[in-house]
Amino acid sequence: MDNCIFCKIINGDIPSAVVFENDEFKAILDRFPSNEGHVLIMPKEHCANIFEMDPEKGGRLFALAVKIASAMKEALGFENMNVLQNNGPVAGQTVNHFHLHLIPRYENDSVNVSWPQMDLTDEQIEEVRKKIASIL
Ligand code: 5GP
Ligand code: ZN
Repeated sequence: MDNCIFCKIINGDIPSAVVFENDEFKAILDRFPSNEGHVLIMPKEHCANIFEMDPEKGGRLFALAVKIASAMKEALGFENMNVLQNNGPVAGQTVNHFHLHLIPRYENDSVNVSWPQMDLTDEQIEEVRKKIASIL
């Protein structure tokens, strides 16, 4: 895709620190990492977000994430990690090419991954559950 920074990284027009690639995916170090070893995994074929992702390919991407996470843990010696994936501007997505963040966590680091917790009734939970479950 023209004007997609990650497509340019994938085809080599923009340099990147590649930790792994195969015919389907590329995994690189984040250029502006939240922590040492922050990795991004992306499909080589442009896909904006999870709503455009082929489920089978998403499964293969996550299987790769599991392998890369283990390699990162062994290489860098951390014990904790966040796996994040933002979809759309309200959710914090700034690059509109699907990517999964693997963020190592170190004791007393400055990464902040948190959200407020709503206090819903069981009935409210059930309403939402029914809406989603009826489509699946
Ligand atoms: P998002 O906010 O869309 O979930 O994450 C985009 C990520 O891409 C950010 O963590 C940002 O640091 C990273 N990023 C932006 N531009 C570049 C770049 O040119 N090269 C690399 N390696 N990462 C980038
Ligand atoms: Zn792209």
